[in-house]
Amino acid sequence: MTSSVVNGGISFWYADDGLPAVREPLPGDATADVVIVGGGYTGLWTAYYLKKAAPFLRITVLEQKFCGYGASGRNGGWLYNGVAGRDRYAKLYGHEAAVRLQKAMNETVAEVVRVADDEGIDADIVRGGVLEVARTPAQLARLRAFHEHELSYGETDRELYGARETAERIRVADAVGSAWTPHGARLHPVKLVKGLAAAVEKLGVTIFESTPVTEVRAGRAVTPYGTVRASYVLRCTEGFTASLKGQRRTWLPMNSSMVATEPLSEEQWAAIGWEGRETLGDMAHAYMYAQRTADGRIALGGRGVPYRFGSRTDNDGRTQPETVEALRDILVDFFPALAGVRITHAWSGVLGVPRDWCASVTLDRATGLGWAGGYVGSGVATSHLAGRTLCDLVQLDSGQGRATELTELPWVGHKVRKWEPEPLRWLGVHGMYATYRSADRRERVSHSAAPSRLARLADRVAGRH
Ligand SMILES: Cc1cc2nc3c(=O)[nH]c(=O)nc-3n(C[C@H](O)[C@H](O)[C@H](O)COP(=O)(O)OP(=O)(O)OC[C@H]3O[C@@H](n4cnc5c(N)ncnc54)[C@H](O)[C@@H]3O)c2cc1C
Repeated sequence: MTSSVVNGGISFWYADDGLPAVREPLPGDATADVVIVGGGYTGLWTAYYLKKAAPFLRITVLEQKFCGYGASGRNGGWLYNGVAGRDRYAKLYGHEAAVRLQKAMNETVAEVVRVADDEGIDADIVRGGVLEVARTPAQLARLRAFHEHELSYGETDRELYGARETAERIRVADAVGSAWTPHGARLHPVKLVKGLAAAVEKLGVTIFESTPVTEVRAGRAVTPYGTVRASYVLRCTEGFTASLKGQRRTWLPMNSSMVATEPLSEEQWAAIGWEGRETLGDMAHAYMYAQRTADGRIALGGRGVPYRFGSRTDNDGRTQPETVEALRDILVDFFPALAGVRITHAWSGVLGVPRDWCASVTLDRATGLGWAGGYVGSGVATSHLAGRTLCDLVQLDSGQGRATELTELPWVGHKVRKWEPEPLRWLGVHGMYATYRSADRRERVSHSAAPSRLARLADRVAGRH
């Protein structure tokens, strides 16, 4: 069944839009004012805002393969306002601080759309919001609680739908309700990252590709081709961070896998609806996420094999055949009319997961070392807010700027302990996801509205609550 699937090749988005021509590597030792390690959304947005704010700065981006090689070229294209760790930040720094973070995220969604427009980046963006469906009584109870919770962070423009209103938007089998927020858009991840890299280069930032950084130290980024010295060295390597010297246990590389169907027929779309192009998710513990693509496919993702022993990352996006089958099963379970549909592409990528599951942005003023990430599964918009924040932190530190609303957000300078050494790391993460899957199965057969105790236990073990 999976033999005709193109598995890997980075992602469907590259199959659709073409792999880029790779830029030249670093020719030898060099100097800059700011060196950015990693050419994903975080590194590129940081470069973009810094160069705009201070055009005289010499900024160099060092990318191990090509810009967009990582999660930024492989994601589900949900540009939305979720930020990992908000609830924890509320506990640590107070509710008001977390409300400010949430407000900044809501504005970020609009800001990405605006900048893409200004820069002439056509990334197939449709602002249809985010629709999250519940399909069991326990999921519905969770959905209602989730909706109330989001309202308490000032997101008053969101809505809760019953089964009928949900079906008017998207006909998901067994859907008993859904929640919708306007703070979301569907996009083509690769078109965004390619357009952004070109915009950054046009501003005068130097990008070297095929240039792996082996070590990041105060004042320098070391590569096999030479060392770049700079006052500020910013690490924007997300799920790949563990491969840098001294960073093995900083952020755990968590895999997420996706599949894309062949383009659906008009009859199939008529059966499903989805006219609003909302990004679609569910309330299962081992959740799924999906979008209706510009060329009429469904791209759908979920966890697959979440973590590889020793923090290893994938090979150019290949995923396991079992994962492809598992994602196909979810697709058909959601949309029975698609029972015979062909899966044409499958791929995977890595997310960065901090030990406390909180995204953060830091600039160490003593060393000039900075980093941003740990977004878990919500980095498309968060990386933009992080990039703008790193820009403001550099400006503040160098005396070119003042403290801003962004430099005062509660995720700035957040410290987190490292992950456990192996085999504890592997055992912990696998145990947690096995528990989530089992909790979902129980909720489906029990028809009880009570959330699974197992899942709450897994949350506690994971350090998420
Ligand atoms: C399958 C999948 C689906 C996802 N779906 C969504 C979604 O729908 N919505 C959402 O909000 N988030 C989603 N995410 C998460 C989101 O894509 C990421 O959080 C975001 O792209 C992170 O951007 P980044 O620039 O920090 O990291 P990356 O895009 O991973 O970029 C890091 C870059 O650094 C480079 N690099 C790494 N190490 C080195 C080194 N040593 N030297 C030089 N360069 C290096 C890499 O090659 C890479 O290009 C998804 C992630 C995956 C994997």
